[in-house]
Amino acid sequence: MSSKYTRKDIITLPNSHLRQRSQRVRQINNETKQLINDMLAAALDWEDSRPHEIAVALAAVQIDRLERVVIVREDFDDKANKNFIVLINPEIVKKEGEIETEQEGCLSVKDVYGLVPRHTKVRVRALDINGQEVRVKSPNAFIARILQHEIDHTNGICFVDHIAKEKDVWSMLNNENGELEPIPYEKVLKMGILPEEE
Ligand SMILES: [Zn+2]
Repeated sequence: MSSKYTRKDIITLPNSHLRQRSQRVRQINNETKQLINDMLAAALDWEDSRPHEIAVALAAVQIDRLERVVIVREDFDDKANKNFIVLINPEIVKKEGEIETEQEGCLSVKDVYGLVPRHTKVRVRALDINGQEVRVKSPNAFIARILQHEIDHTNGICFVDHIAKEKDVWSMLNNENGELEPIPYEKVLKMGILPEEE
C-alpha cells in the first residue's frame, strides 16, 4: 500500500485542528490501514529532512486526519529501524511514578522545545491493527512521556499547552549544530503557538 503523503502534509501550530478532539475509530478497515501508511510516509519524509532529530511518534491529527490513531517508533536509538507500533483509540488507564520535567518537541511545533512535566510511568489500553486489545506498560520514562504526548494529541492538546504560562522553559533547535538554545518567552508569545486565553 503506497502513500502520497510527505512532510508537507504535517500541520503545525497555530493550525486550530491541532486543538480539536479526534474521533474514535469505529471500524478498522482498509481506510484505517491507508491512514497508518500515510502517517508513516509523512513521519519518515519529515525525518529525512531533519539532520538532528528522529520521528519518534505521530498522531493522525498531525496529518490533519482527526482520528484517534497514534504510531510510536519501535526502536528510538536506531534511525535505520523504521518500524512503528500502531495504537488505535489509545487511552491512558493509569499514570504512575514521579513527575519529571524534560525537554519535549513536536513535529507540529517547528523547532520549538519546552520543559514539560510528565508522569514517569503510564499504562495504556488500545487496539492494534487487527482490532485486538493491547495493553502497554511504559518500559521507561522516555516512552511514558511519548505516550502521554501522543494521547494528548488525540484529545486536542499540544505540549506547549501544558507550559503556556511558564516563562523560562523555552528553547529553539539550532538546525546547524543540533543544540537547543534558550529563547525568551516574548519570542514564544509572538509565534502564536500558545493557546488563546479563555
Ligand atoms: Zn507532537
